[in-house]
Amino acid sequence: MSARRFMINSRSVRDGYASFDGDIYNHMVRVLRLGTGDSVQLADEKGVVYYGTINQVAKEWVAVKITSSVLVNEIDSNSPHITICQALPKGDKIDLILQKGTELGAHDFWLFGGRRSVAKIRDDQQDSKLERWNRITAEAARQCGRPDIPQVTWRPSAVEAASDTGHELRLILWEGEKDYSLKDALSVGGKPSTVIVAIGPEGGFDPLEVRHFSQYGFQPVSLGTRILRTETASIAILAIIQYTWGEM
Ligand code: SAH
Repeated sequence: MSARRFMINSRSVRDGYASFDGDIYNHMVRVLRLGTGDSVQLADEKGVVYYGTINQVAKEWVAVKITSSVLVNEIDSNSPHITICQALPKGDKIDLILQKGTELGAHDFWLFGGRRSVAKIRDDQQDSKLERWNRITAEAARQCGRPDIPQVTWRPSAVEAASDTGHELRLILWEGEKDYSLKDALSVGGKPSTVIVAIGPEGGFDPLEVRHFSQYGFQPVSLGTRILRTETASIAILAIIQYTWGEM
């Protein structure tokens, strides 16, 4: 079995050793029961992956001797960068979207307040929400062995989310689109380097929002005749794009 990978902070590495207490210690030693001599990989926030072996396990900390390191800025540079542009859903559905989306390789998440989003984010809640959402992607990245952490950012409305994204391929999932399917969208042209996909909230997109996105070059696409829940749509689109252009 290949060595387990842990997400670490670059500050933990010094003079050829890395040492950990707290969560990483618990995960390595208590949960995975790794011990002296076991190989591990450590990935930091700058995209450096360190290879090493555990050389000391104490009661509350563990030390890893580093044998080599490599800069892996892009874990999977052949896959397009996929941005999930998600209207804020109700309750804790967003947690699921961020967690599963991170596992499926979303590059980043732009959350926005849809006209039909039931949940609202007040200005004074933004920082704490963003902190929580970014913790979810960090934890999911750690769990699935991703060296990079998808960033979560907030945009107040569809207009801010749609304008000037710079992505090569822009799609909006819209059940009102009857003629153009996702299959059509993925079969024209070659593999893009960046993709953004807009997904509506439970109540769907307001026609005005579809117009905004279209104006900014988002192609409306249908996922078929069944109406998917917003979280299903978000997770499914990532799996499909990764299968088509990514490493799956
Ligand atoms: N408009 C519906 C359902 C919204 S489903 C209603 O009034 O209840 C939530 C979001 O998932 C949609 O905004 C859309 O982005 C996406 N979605 C779900 N099913 C879809 C389909 N068959 N085709 C395209 N997008 C879909």
